[in-house]
Amino acid sequence: MSMLAYPAVFLLAGFGLLHLGLVTNGLAVLFAALPLILTVVGVGLAWRFNRSGAVFAFLALGLTYLVGAWVPWGRAVDAPEAQAVLAILALVLPLNFVLAAAIGDRGVLTFRGILQLLLLTGELTTVFILVRVSLWLGGPEGAASCNRAVAGLLSSNFLPVEATTWIGLPLSGIVAVQFALLFFLYRTLRDRSPLDIGFGGALLAAAIGLGSRTPQAVDVYFTAAGLTLLSSIFMDSYRMAFLDELTGLPTRRVLKADFKKLGGGYAVAMVDVDHFKKFNDTYGHDVGDQVLRMVASRLSKVTGGGKAYRYGGEEFTVLFPKLGKKAARPHLEALRESIEQSGFNLRGQDRPKQKPENPKRPEKPKIVSVTVSIGAAEHGAANATPDEAIKAADKALYKAKKNGRNRVELG
Ligand code: GH3
Ligand code: MG
Ligand code: MG
Repeated sequence: MSMLAYPAVFLLAGFGLLHLGLVTNGLAVLFAALPLILTVVGVGLAWRFNRSGAVFAFLALGLTYLVGAWVPWGRAVDAPEAQAVLAILALVLPLNFVLAAAIGDRGVLTFRGILQLLLLTGELTTVFILVRVSLWLGGPEGAASCNRAVAGLLSSNFLPVEATTWIGLPLSGIVAVQFALLFFLYRTLRDRSPLDIGFGGALLAAAIGLGSRTPQAVDVYFTAAGLTLLSSIFMDSYRMAFLDELTGLPTRRVLKADFKKLGGGYAVAMVDVDHFKKFNDTYGHDVGDQVLRMVASRLSKVTGGGKAYRYGGEEFTVLFPKLGKKAARPHLEALRESIEQSGFNLRGQDRPKQKPENPKRPEKPKIVSVTVSIGAAEHGAANATPDEAIKAADKALYKAKKNGRNRVELG
């Protein structure tokens, strides 16, 4: 949820600033420059972080802003050239966003990257030709009729007029923006990546800006769009640095940092999957990974104010900042039971490759049981540092293994 919050914050901040009439004088000048500054920073950062999808999104955003700013907004908003440029930008920006996300991070100076660059340049050249070359060739009359034709074509409206006019974008733009927003919503639900939320949020802000057609609103909403995209790159980098890719749990690095914030009076538990090696050997590494995901998802629901981490491999840590080991025990038993009862269901392709004994008998779904052993220890005179507490928990874990596995032992 927190991932959804920041695009909303930037949008609302922009809306508030505009409607309170605060974007004047110096602030107005700042907002006019910010979209371009953010584009430069964003392109550099995204490139450095190997996020070429975001590089192209930033380029599309920045160039759209530049072209939009170059056409006199506001005063000449009803002029045919402004209408034509707006119609093209509103159509092209969402499609470029979708393309950047769909192609993904395949590099900037690669074949696909250069194709994207050419496409962006081509689109802008088209705008240029429409507005300028038609003027040179046809004079004001010819240019106006050419631009009117383009705007008219892109605005062709088969809906009742009231259905679209309040948004301020031509129909083709509205359809493209909606299509792109649905695309990013789908990807967000599928992958939960901050970048997709950032793309969607930035596009929405930019579309509102384009639709508002006043210079200030364009500046402010494009700033909001740039900030949204930039934040999503930071959120994504945070995720890469601190969250384990396979399970989504925080990593050992986060555990270390969290330990530093604690004084004393905590309990720490080490959790290890039982006979995991055999599991891997029998069913394959992919099924092993699924088991780890299942275990992690159960551990993440720990009660008692605890927090679960992936310590490494098939080992996890649960930290209870406010509990001693005895108080933590029932919460650990609950975790152990919930994993034991999960009944890991093997799907057809995950089965071991053996010849069926009786090929005529239909296969029943095979349920394999997964269990964990847990050792817990607490901070105290004997375990004064986090390292010592973890060592003591490890020892208790060893005891749990020796005493038959699928159990909790206190150190
Ligand atoms: P025990 O009950 O004593 O813990 O037995 P075990 O087989 O779980 O013991 P051990 O700790 O020796 O085995 C750990 C195995 O975990 C070894 C390695 O193949 C597997 N493993 C470690 N990390 C991963 C991973 O990310 N994915 C998968 N699929 N397997 C992993
Ligand atoms: Mg182990
Ligand atoms: Mg193990």
